[in-house]
Parts: sequence; structure tokens; C-alpha cells
Amino acid sequence: MRIVIVGGVAAGMSAASRAMRQNPDADVVVFERGEYISYGACGLPYVLGGDVDSFDDLIARTPAQMRSRGIGVRLRHDVTGVDAGARTITVVDRESGRSVVEPYDKLLIATGVSAIRPDWAQTDLGGVHVLREIPDGQAIEATISGGAKRAVIVGGGYIGLELAETLTCRGLKVVVVEKGPEVAGRMLDREYQQRVRAELESNGVDIRCGTTVEGLTGKDGQVTGVQTDHGLVRADVVIVAVGVRPNLELARAAGARIGKTGAVAVNIRQETNVEGVYSAGDNTESIHRVTRRKVHIPLGLTANRMGRVAGVNMAGGDASFPGVVGSSIFKTFALGAARTGLTQSEADDLGLDAASVDVHSTDHAGYYSTAKPIYVRLTAERGTGRLLGGQLVCGNHESVKRVDVIAALLHNRGKVQDLFEMDLSYAPPFSGVWDVLLVAADRLS
Ligand code: FAD
Repeated sequence: MRIVIVGGVAAGMSAASRAMRQNPDADVVVFERGEYISYGACGLPYVLGGDVDSFDDLIARTPAQMRSRGIGVRLRHDVTGVDAGARTITVVDRESGRSVVEPYDKLLIATGVSAIRPDWAQTDLGGVHVLREIPDGQAIEATISGGAKRAVIVGGGYIGLELAETLTCRGLKVVVVEKGPEVAGRMLDREYQQRVRAELESNGVDIRCGTTVEGLTGKDGQVTGVQTDHGLVRADVVIVAVGVRPNLELARAAGARIGKTGAVAVNIRQETNVEGVYSAGDNTESIHRVTRRKVHIPLGLTANRMGRVAGVNMAGGDASFPGVVGSSIFKTFALGAARTGLTQSEADDLGLDAASVDVHSTDHAGYYSTAKPIYVRLTAERGTGRLLGGQLVCGNHESVKRVDVIAALLHNRGKVQDLFEMDLSYAPPFSGVWDVLLVAADRLS
């Protein structure tokens, strides 16, 4: 049994480990076109910010460690083709340029996504970066250490906002340019987006929403500014964080179906429509447990879990992916923001009869010294009381992790009353006696 995996990060390496555990006699080989495998890309902003000492600290397992477990790892090997009929792939060794054909019994496509670079960002100018992989982080570090003073971050999504904190703390003057009306646009409802922007602005970040980038200016091979429809913004470093696009070339070459979400369509076993070909991770769509619709929400736990499911199944076991509920969380400066399920505006767009309640309280007991304001929006279906989602923003960033209580209920189609009846833990340094989630559920029921 030869199991071939393309892509050696979250989904690919989870699959390799699980396949090996499921069937220790299998021949498991991972092809990765980059320099690194098995690392936490989510930690990249924190290396740049100094909360993590080095890029090496993000690496969970080295190729040598994987090989010692019997998993073959080929770094700098680009898989350029698939012949699903013959069950072979074409691989190019990026060092020698040599191309070989390799057989497989089961193939996992775990090729992830690429950062979108609009036309204006396709430039040779120094100082223009995306942040996706370790070498991107190293390149940004080199630009910052080289004396950059003014940064423009294009895109006000979570990666852009994490970087806004990082670069400000590194002493740069940061401008965030966002085309949409607010930051964190795809994540939160408007009032909660505004709270995130307020935190950034109070820390000196210049946020320019409703602003479209038209081009870059440069001198002597270095970027000097970002031309927008509202004028020129000077910059020595530009980070392009406008979203990601699934890497679909191999899935297409294999004949795998691409779903309406624009990512690879799979069943709950991570199988594509092509016999013997699986897909997992950021390049793959999943099912949303609240809406029962296909979604493409490329995040770390999803990628690891999909990889694990694919690994078990490719090696002859039986596992299924349970779906997602759309949970995500981030921090910028002291503020934490989290959401799960649907926002009110997402529920409206889907035509659901949804109502929300907003609660403004404190995350710890009001009299406790560390208490900070916390804002919670809970959304439910009118009539049935079925929970649809929740959003939290708090000046103590860890406090928004209680979003997981709502996520747990969403997994089982829980109701507002179920939340209200939950026996949540309490002590003054953690919450009020009636946690803010219970207060919200009480008001919504
Ligand atoms: P990837 O990590 O993209 O790995 C795919 C690999 O496939 C790549 O290494 C690529 O080189 C390789 N590959 C592609 N094509 C080929 C080919 N043809 N041949 C050989 N190799 C190929 N998620 C969260 O849940 N929480 C967070 O806080 C969070 N923060 C993030 C912060 C940053 C800066 C970034 C970039 C991502 C963050 N994520 C976060 C997302 C998370 O990192 C991804 O969901 C996860 O890495 C996806 O893993 P993957 O294996 O599907 O894809």
C-alpha cells in the first residue's frame, strides 16, 4: 500500500502520521515543494512580534523526526501532474530540475492556499510581502530589521490586524488600508468590527476603510508608497493581506470536482469524486453544521482534522469529518475578538428569521481588579430558539475564548435555553456569578 501525500504542513503531516499509525506497513511518502514541513503558520505574526523566539520554534516535527517514524519526506519536490487512471504523479526535484513519475495507491492532495497578490502587488520592488510561509516571515523580518519605519498593511482581515499590532510594537508607523467599510469585515457584525477598529486606533494604527489600492510607487528597487483612490500613503514595507486562493492545479489535473465554494469537493471521508484521490486542508471545502451548506473556511484545526480523517481512511480505516461551525478568534493589541456560527448579518443574508441580543458587561467579576468590558452578541432563530451564533469582543483577549461554549452547543443544534441552563464555572477572577453568556441567553430566551 503506497500512500502519497502532496503538501507537508497541517493537513498533509496529520494525514501522514495517522496513516502510519493506522497501517504501520504502509509506504507513506510526503512531497513538499517548500523548505519546511509540519509548522504552525498561525505563529508567524508572533515570531515577528517577539512573543515567539524564532521561526524554528514553529516547527512541530522535522523531516528527520518524521523519517524516524517511517514516513518518507521529500522537501523541495514540486508535484506537477497527476494521472488518476494510471495512479501516478509527476514530481520535479527543484534542486536538480529532474522530473520523475511516482506511483500511488492512495493520493492525498493537501496543497493548501496561496496568498492573493492582486496585479498591483506582482512587483519586483523590495519591501512588498505576503505572509503565508516561514520564508515570507523571514523576508518581512529582514525588511523590518533593515530599518523600515512606515508600514502599509493592505487588508483588514485577521492576519492584517495581527500584523498591525506586531509592526506597531516593533516601532513602525502602521497604516491599514481596507477596501470594505470596516475592518474584520468577514468575521463580525458592524458594531463589533467598530470595537476592533477602536482598539487599533487607540494604539496609534491609522485605519483607512473604504480605500482601494491602485498601485505601488518605488525608487531604486524599493517600495516607497501605496497609491490609493484617496491619495498616496508612504511606506517602506507593504504587507499584502487581501485573502487566499485554494491551490487547485493538482485537484483539477486529477479530475477532482471543485465545489461552488471554489475549493475541492469531498465527502465526509475526505474522498474526492476520483477513485483513490483524497483532499484535505485549506484547499478543501467542508460542511457547515448550522446551515448544512458547503463552506470554505480555511483554518488550522479544520486542516489538521481533515488530514487526520484522510490519513485513517487512506490506510484502510474508517473516519469521518464532522463539519465546522465557523469558529474563529484573534487578538490585536489587548483586544480579543471571536465568533462562531453565524453573525446576524450572515443569518439575514441566508434568509433566516434570526434575532440577536447584545450584552455589555465585564469578563471578570465587576469588583475584581482585572475586570474589563466584554461585549457579547448572541444570535438565535426566532420561534424555535435554536442557537445560530455568537460574537465576543473583550479588552482581556483570553476572555473571548468562552466562545467555545457556544460552539459546543452549535455542534449539537443546541437552543438558547440549553445555554442558559449550563452549569458554567465561576470565581471572581474569571467571570461574574452569572457569566455574560448566561446573561445573554437569559435575555434572548
Ligand atoms: P498549508 O499550510 O498551506 O500547506 C500546504 C503545503 O502544500 C505548502 O507547504 C505548499 O508548499 C505545499 N504544496 C502546494 N502545492 C504543492 C505541490 N504541487 N507540490 C508539493 N507541495 C505543494 N488558522 C487558525 O485556525 N488560527 C489562526 O490563528 C491562524 N493564523 C494564521 C496566521 C497566518 C499568518 C497564516 C498564514 C495562517 C494562519 N492560519 C490560522 C491558517 C492555518 O495556518 C492554515 O489553516 C493551515 O496552515 C492549513 O494547513 P494546510 O496543510 O491545509 O495548508
